[in-house]
Amino acid sequence: MRKHTMGLLAAAAASTLALSACGGAEVGGEPEGGSSEGAGDGITIGIKYDQPGLGLQDGADYTGFDVDVARYVANELGYSEDQITFRETPSANRESMLQNGDVDMIFATYSITDERKQVIDFAGPYFVAGQDLLVAADNTDITGPEDLEGKNLCSVTGSTSAEKIKTDYAEGVQLLERPGYAECVTALSAGQVDAVTTDDIILAGLAAANGDGNLKVVGNPFSEERYGVGLPKGSDQCEDINAAITKMIEEGAWEDAVAANTEGADYTPNADLNPPTPEACA
Ligand code: GLU
Repeated sequence: MRKHTMGLLAAAAASTLALSACGGAEVGGEPEGGSSEGAGDGITIGIKYDQPGLGLQDGADYTGFDVDVARYVANELGYSEDQITFRETPSANRESMLQNGDVDMIFATYSITDERKQVIDFAGPYFVAGQDLLVAADNTDITGPEDLEGKNLCSVTGSTSAEKIKTDYAEGVQLLERPGYAECVTALSAGQVDAVTTDDIILAGLAAANGDGNLKVVGNPFSEERYGVGLPKGSDQCEDINAAITKMIEEGAWEDAVAANTEGADYTPNADLNPPTPEACA
């Protein structure tokens, strides 16, 4: 928390300077020279590194919808681009990385659940997806979760997607758990599993990036996944993050980010559920 206060003060000073300089173009831009208050002054944000269109690392570049929302929110909280450090938060490690202070907040296709709320807090939601299935493009047997009986399915350890299969379809489905969705796509492409399951927006990005047209999303979502911003329990930042999300939606930047990050992927967000209204903070 100490470093947040420092960051906010430094950024407030920087934005006052930028405003008084009048052009406005440099608000949130890089402070030139030695104006920053020491190297420890920033924010560490957890994202996915292997989910095209959501959170993707390519060298020093980080792209995707989660990353765009994270940057927007961090800017609104007073952090400039060069004060943000991205860190990978795999599905199974998200709660513990917040609890250990490895990251300050998480934007990583992170569904708000009551179970997770026992150990961490959430702001948001900023998006609503639905669990779906990814299969070979020529697969005609699997049209929904009820067709999974006797099939091999891949999902990711620590995800709500794997949990739902274990809870609702445990008897008939052989579940292979992997640390990340990219490994599941590899297993599907190699014919080791019949389907991959997770949120539709993740699957659409994976199909567009990996499949050469030979993978398809079934398009029959069977859950509501409300993406929240993961925060350490007791955080005082939830209200400010919700205000930033609301502003992003009202300004049209949210819609632009959805469009830019789903371009080329066969995906349209559920318009009945998106954009969502952030919930009251705990
Ligand atoms: N949204 C789901 C979750 O938070 C699945 C996606 C993921 O593993 O990040 O568990």
